[in-house]
Amino acid sequence: MKNKVFFNNKICDAENANVSVFDRGYLFSDGIYELIPYFHNKPFLLSEHYNRLEKSLAMINLKNPYAKEEWINNIESLVNTCEFDNFSLYIQVTRGVPESIEDGVLREHAAIKNYKPSVCMFCSQIQDISEDYIRIKNTITMEDKRWLQCDIKSISLLFNTYAKTLANKQGAYEAILIRNGIVTEGCSSNVFIVKDEVIKTAPKSNLILPGVTRSFVIDELIQKNGLSVKIESFKEDELINADEVFITNSTQAILPIGKINNKIINNNEIGNITKKLYKHFLEFLE
Ligand code: PLP
Repeated sequence: MKNKVFFNNKICDAENANVSVFDRGYLFSDGIYELIPYFHNKPFLLSEHYNRLEKSLAMINLKNPYAKEEWINNIESLVNTCEFDNFSLYIQVTRGVPESIEDGVLREHAAIKNYKPSVCMFCSQIQDISEDYIRIKNTITMEDKRWLQCDIKSISLLFNTYAKTLANKQGAYEAILIRNGIVTEGCSSNVFIVKDEVIKTAPKSNLILPGVTRSFVIDELIQKNGLSVKIESFKEDELINADEVFITNSTQAILPIGKINNKIINNNEIGNITKKLYKHFLEFLE
């Protein structure tokens, strides 16, 4: 099976996908990305992901290189080459490459030239979300040392990848980030706690990425099923002393947490509310 990559209107074999070293994405992480899950070959929450892509572009003042219809056509042409049933579609847009370097300036912090944006997309296989898939995960906590615009889905993920690697080396799936004693989010997930049957998650702000799964879980799984939710910040000690903790992201939906810094949560078992929400999630995929 050959993996394919969409790059600036062309689809090529993955090993032939190349980008210029002068691309501002490569030199400065000057770009944004989006990731759309496909379960059983169907995109899940496509419009919500597209809307966030548009917002991220606007927030870094980067003109959307395609109209929505063009995006849909380009996505379809790539996805048609994908042989997986369950996969994530990765989309990256960078400010791109200067139209001219004849002035001898090959790298310049200020984006003051004309650039040809780079659009890249590829598909990666993911696990099917099924009844058997739900797995309890270990986590650690770490100080959130990211910048203050975490609401942009920026390709600059140096801290996120550093923290997640550290977590991984300690046998944990995720590092939950803490800023001034307050839980913000995971390196690649949003965090929910349950205490006395009330679910809590941090409000949208510049300190977290507005997760598509987070909003879906709140609106479609929690509120429509009459469960209690408070959208408010919570401290690290509330996290550690919660009855249940779970995290959410697009490719894995809802992940129950069994340990935080080796402290056991809910006897290292999946909590009842987490189980209920996961079950409701599966109903959406049917
Ligand atoms: N927070 C961060 C920092 C992320 O990177 C991600 C996903 O990659 C999320 C939250 C979850 O967002 P979503 O549910 O849209 O995948």
